[in-house]
This record gives sequence, C-alpha cells and structure tokens, in this order.
Amino acid sequence: MSVTRLKETLAELSDLHHAETIADWDARVSMPPEGAEARAHVVATLTRITHERFISDEVGELLDGLDGLEDETDAALVRLTRREWERARRVPGELAAEMARTAGVAVAAWDKAKAASDFATFAPHLERQVELKRRYVECFPEIGTAYDVLLDEYEEGMTTSEVQSVFDRLKEVLVPLIASRADGGARLEGPFPVDRQQQASRLVLDSFGWDPAKWRIDETPHPFASKPGLGDIRLTTHTGPGDLTSLFSTMHEFGHGVYEFDVDERLARSPLGRGTSSAIHESQSRMWENLVGRSRGFWRWFYPQLQPLFPEALGGVDEDEFVRAVSAIRPGLIRGDADEATYGLHIILRFELEQELLAGTVAVRDLPEAWNARMKHYLGVDVPDDAHGVLQDMHWSVGLFGYFPTYQLGNVVSVQIWEVARRDLGDLDEQFARGEFGQLREWLREHVYRHGSVYPPRELLQRVTGSALDPEPYLHYLQTKFG
Ligand code: ZN
Repeated sequence: MSVTRLKETLAELSDLHHAETIADWDARVSMPPEGAEARAHVVATLTRITHERFISDEVGELLDGLDGLEDETDAALVRLTRREWERARRVPGELAAEMARTAGVAVAAWDKAKAASDFATFAPHLERQVELKRRYVECFPEIGTAYDVLLDEYEEGMTTSEVQSVFDRLKEVLVPLIASRADGGARLEGPFPVDRQQQASRLVLDSFGWDPAKWRIDETPHPFASKPGLGDIRLTTHTGPGDLTSLFSTMHEFGHGVYEFDVDERLARSPLGRGTSSAIHESQSRMWENLVGRSRGFWRWFYPQLQPLFPEALGGVDEDEFVRAVSAIRPGLIRGDADEATYGLHIILRFELEQELLAGTVAVRDLPEAWNARMKHYLGVDVPDDAHGVLQDMHWSVGLFGYFPTYQLGNVVSVQIWEVARRDLGDLDEQFARGEFGQLREWLREHVYRHGSVYPPRELLQRVTGSALDPEPYLHYLQTKFG
C-alpha cells in the first residue's frame, strides 16, 4: 500500500477537523446565543462523520503494510495514525455517543450549579461522568492503571507513578516556600481601561512577531488559541478593567499559537501538523507568559511603554514595584488566577482527587469537603462556597479527567527547555530588555515547533534537553525567584 493514499485520506479528515475548529471558534467568539442549538447539531454531525470515517476498516487497510518506512516523517505519520486509530476503535460507538451526550447535558448543569454555588444539583452529573470514565478505562485493559489510561490520552506514554513522583517532589518544596513567602505584596490598583490594555497586548504581539495577515485576536470570557488551518491562528484573551490579567493571557495564548504557527508547512493537513502533546503545548504557553512575560528584561523594555498608557494607575509605580506586583505569591481560591508558585498545588489537588473519585475512595457527594480540606492543607485558604471551590472548573463536567496534570507538567517542562535555550543563546534578559524576542522564537522553532507531532512528547523532550521529565530546573527557578 502506498503512503500517498493514506496521506490523501488523512488530509481530508484534517479538513473536517478544521471545519469543526471553525464552528467551535465561531460558537465561542461571534455566534449569537440563540444559535447554540443549531450549532450543536452541526458540530455533532461533523464529529460523527469524521469519527466514522477515521475508524473505518479502510484506514486500517491503508495502514497495513506501511510499517518500517524509511522516511522518518512518513514513519511517524504511520505510527501516530495507528495509535489513534486503534484507540478510537477500542471505544464502542454506543459509549462514545453516551459520553458526548452526557458532556453536553453536564456542562449546562455545571454552568447553572456554579452560578448558584450549588454542588448538589451538579453531583448526579458528575457521578454519571465518573461511571462513564470507568467504562472507558475498561476499554484499555493492557494499559497499567485506570489513571494511566486517561493520562496517555493527552500525554502519550506518561504514567501515574511518574507524575506522582514529580508532584511529590514539587509538594515537598512548594508548600514550605509558599507558606514562607506568601506576603503577597502590594496589588496594583486600577483603573486599567480595556482599550488601553488591548493596545498593550497588540504592542507585545507585534514585538513577539505575529503577522496580522495570519493571526487574529478576539475577546472571550475564557481565553484560548486555535488553528483552523495553515496561516490562520486565532487567539482570544479576556480583558477586564480591574487588573492587567489580559496581558498575561495574551502572552499565554501567543505561546500556544506560535507553536502551531511554526509547525513545518509540509506537515499541514496531517495528524503530524500540530503540537505533540498537552504538556509540551502548555510548556510553550507558560514560557511566553512567565519566563518571558514575567522576566526582568521584558519589563525593562516594556514598562516604559505600558506606564504611560495607564497614568492614573501606574503613574506613581516604578518598574521594581510593578514587577514585584505581577510576580507576587498570593495563595488564592482560583486556579486560573494563581501565581507561578501556587499554581502547581491547585493542580496536585485535582490530580489526587481525580484518582480518588475513579477509585471510589472519595464519593462524589463528599467531594466539596475533600476539596476544601485540601485547599486549607496545601494553600492555607478557606473556601467560602463551592463556586470558588469544587465548581470553579468546567473540565470534569465535559469528562476531562487526566488532563489537569498536563498543565503543571507544562510548567516543569518549560523551564527544562528554557535552560537549554539560555545555554545556546546567552543572556536572554539582555535581548528582552532591547525588545528582541526573535532569537528565542527562532530557536524554539528549530528545536520544538517545526517538528509538530513527528516525535512523541517523551522523545521530543529527550532530543531537546537530553533529559527525561525533571522537576529540578523548575524548582531551582522558583527558589531563585522567590526563595
Ligand atoms: Zn494553556
């Protein structure tokens, strides 16, 4: 069988995925609310057609006889397609449909429950999700533990015990670090007019090297990045007048966007034409948000441009005070607002509770209590209500279990990659202080972005850093910055 026919089929499937991406982007960015029901039909139909076509015997026949190809990229395409094809075929259609249906109903229930801070009305939906996850896990009896099955979906080859040992090490250092450094420091006080923040975001994107002919940015309550196709990168950010969060959200989503943008064009319209895993993706969003966007050099260059945009709020705040304020450790209730040091503990808490829910050692009805106790233990904060506690994230309602750890693994990996970049490129802070980000971006393109999904995450990390997953560079970074 020739690899050309496989590529043709996968290119069409990729077009269908892109159509789903556009439908989803439109639903989140520009669709009038009453369009939701009709859009749900469109997305369901597209998803079903794509799924049926992909899991067909035809794709299996195209794969047959293509093992051991000499060309590295072709071999990677066959490997990845086979992995995804076998995974997708393992889940009975009836279960897949039930998971999709439950997600739709549960996310609406979660939305209401969160608004009313009423966990009890959401609990039956979460129970149903946990039950469906257990059935899903049973489809993969050869993979280690139940939680390994879930992790492997977002982070190929990652195991629970590996995550556990990284997280144990983080806890050991972070809990005392946070307890000793959590004075918070002065917060910045607004007003920060929305149009001025948007202007600031544009200035940063210009200097990071976005091309307005190929990128766009819009406003949504929850920022995200998507790529409906080659030369089409769409970011969103959320701009509120009370703080400058939008600037960091923009840099975060730029990191996701630039990874996708800089994938080698020859990989377009194929499963290789996207970032290789959730954690590697998050390592890039975190790198641009934190390692670049919260660095001294960056602010040496950018603060003189930002300050005059907000004379009322920042007129009397010097660069030092400003950098301290946007980097401070402030244990809080909400994962999405967490600083660099406390963020990991929000994730570790979810990682632990997800396993306990799946194992049945924590019952869904007891979840708020377990959540609140752990928030107190790890971060020293009291949870006033479920909206600011167990109901804050949408993930579980749509059946995303095993996904949260990739956020924190991204933080860990970001510093591993950063260390190598610094070794190769010299003093990045000096470059940033001159508003120069091109060398870093080009280095990342060469070593990470252009490869798309040619290498599985573990192999990519090994190639770039010469090392396996390692929490020490990240901990060293935090201790140097905050210790
Ligand atoms: Zn992200």
